[in-house]
Amino acid sequence: MTRPRVHETVADLREGIAAARAAGHRIALVPTMGALHEGHLSLVRAAREQAEHIVVSIFVNPAQFAPTEDFDAYPRDNEADIRMLEELSVEGVFLPSVAEMYPQGFATGMTVGGPSAGLESVTRPHFFNGMAIVVAKLLLAALPDIAMFGEKDYQQLAVVRRFVADLGIPTTIVGAPTVREADGLAMSSRNRYLDADARRTAALVPQVLRQAIARIEAGEPVAAVLADGTAQLTQGGFAVDYLELCDASTLAPVGPGSLDARLLVAAKLGKTRLIDNMAVTRPASGWA
Ligand code: AMP
Repeated sequence: MTRPRVHETVADLREGIAAARAAGHRIALVPTMGALHEGHLSLVRAAREQAEHIVVSIFVNPAQFAPTEDFDAYPRDNEADIRMLEELSVEGVFLPSVAEMYPQGFATGMTVGGPSAGLESVTRPHFFNGMAIVVAKLLLAALPDIAMFGEKDYQQLAVVRRFVADLGIPTTIVGAPTVREADGLAMSSRNRYLDADARRTAALVPQVLRQAIARIEAGEPVAAVLADGTAQLTQGGFAVDYLELCDASTLAPVGPGSLDARLLVAAKLGKTRLIDNMAVTRPASGWA
């Protein structure tokens, strides 16, 4: 096994990528905030099917955290992350400092629209603009052929697809399915915050999604099913931010014209905020 080359600057990252390009290799970027788990590693494995040179970026981006959120507490373990990536023979790890990404005098922002409306934006209005500026900078730094994103953050994936198309960034955005624990809980770096009790309770999130989807697909009225799901989560000890059925491509509330839908949820268990989503097939009779 060869340890991935660690790039701390954009200049060094570009040098590594230029060498790979000169060797005829296709480049994949996998943006992450570190504290890697099997969900992240699945993105790396999927990238390997399309690229000979994989760069995983690890950057906890201050611009996407509100002052009240967990930026300082967010789990960081670069050495363990690099070892996991070494096992997958990843070629490069981009590990920039905050000053490298946001140099002195940084004064530029992005305003993303379309699929950023609603859902996460209601409680985290800063999030998508902050995410977009850093993802745009990462894409411009690496100019990869493909970049991998998880469906776990479904709204984020939709926003990235939108601004990459709008800005004409020459990278293909590839979405990958959510990797789950044995009890169905979507893997997340933030699951490390859950104590044993909360960890058991957290499995209610995918259970509620699955039950609600079965009922919606059987033709039950959507509003009643969502109300029941919200009540179940609340009784289980969650503070629910949203449980919504949205058009799978626009993320607007599902309407008669929506062919595919997505059921999306965000709920807090104590201080830990969990998000998840699953695909919903339109009932033969249409959305009730
Ligand atoms: P994060 O480090 O949480 O910012 O996530 C980095 C990337 O990994 C994002 O594209 C996420 O959607 C993706 N990801 C996170 N958790 C999972 C999971 N359980 N399954 C698949 N992809 C994931």
